[in-house]
Amino acid sequence: MAEHFSAENRWWKWSDYVVKRGFICPAPGAKLISYDVWNLYRAKGRRGSSKRSPPYGDLIRLSNHIHFPRKMMTCEQESLILQWCRRFGLLGLLTEALVEVWLPQSTARDSLFRGERGHVHHERVARGWRSGFQVGPLPARIRNPKAILLRDGKPIEWTLGDLLATYFPSIQKAKRARFRMPMPLSDSFWAIYCEPVDSFVLRAKELSRAVEGIGQVRADPALAYSGMELLNGLTKHVRPLLVRERNSRWGQTWVAPSLISVFSMMAMLDCLKGRRTIRCQRCGMTITTSNPTTLYCGNTCRWAGQKRQQRGQPVAGESKLGRPATVTAGGTA
Ligand SMILES: [Zn+2]
Repeated sequence: MAEHFSAENRWWKWSDYVVKRGFICPAPGAKLISYDVWNLYRAKGRRGSSKRSPPYGDLIRLSNHIHFPRKMMTCEQESLILQWCRRFGLLGLLTEALVEVWLPQSTARDSLFRGERGHVHHERVARGWRSGFQVGPLPARIRNPKAILLRDGKPIEWTLGDLLATYFPSIQKAKRARFRMPMPLSDSFWAIYCEPVDSFVLRAKELSRAVEGIGQVRADPALAYSGMELLNGLTKHVRPLLVRERNSRWGQTWVAPSLISVFSMMAMLDCLKGRRTIRCQRCGMTITTSNPTTLYCGNTCRWAGQKRQQRGQPVAGESKLGRPATVTAGGTA
């Protein structure tokens, strides 16, 4: 019997994380929390407020402060990553690309097929994941148990050994062949899923390059074009979904397979609304604003920044980040 799992608008985070052998993993005793990720975006976009710090802004700021690769990172930088993960969770690097998994032959555990031999099959569907048990041999198109991922729109195949070694480091090599991978995004999946620190940082930097590139649409059109291509790539697995609302009305929501694709979609929506993404010139916080003259995240930073400028001192945010903070989304500055 197939088990369905709807993931629209939700993401998961552990209350605590640790870095173990180069992987970001749930900390022992941590609690799994599910939250509405779009709620963060809606809450930050209240009417009447021209400035806001978007949920993806913290990731951009984090990626700008982290060295790559991990051997160049300081302990402080590593703990900043863990701090971020405690707030938002992992990026979903595997679930973003994964579309199908066929597990090795096993005996069915559910009541319908109990005792039968066959294969557990996980498949990404419109709203989340579907997991089923196929009695008998693998289908003709699938010769061996494997994972199928999408890379640049094309399906590529991974052995289960590669999949487990890349994202499930707690599963020992000897046990990988018989391991029953849980359905993606289920509680038991999150209990063992980890992300390599380097892949996490690389993906975060990609979003940062996309948003900052788009911001240079007037100053550097070629850079803006590559930012646009990057953002289009980061959002390619996000799709709109028609949903029924109260009073028989229809509404629209988004379904995305990973946190990085949700954040990228938020950046794209801000860009389409003509909002500029900037770094506060004093504290470096990433904010979006519809005001073309905004330089600071709020009054405190504005007053402090103006005071420093009057005294002829450099603005703190500029010296800390090494460059001025002007990133424009949508070319409306
Ligand atoms: Zn500020």
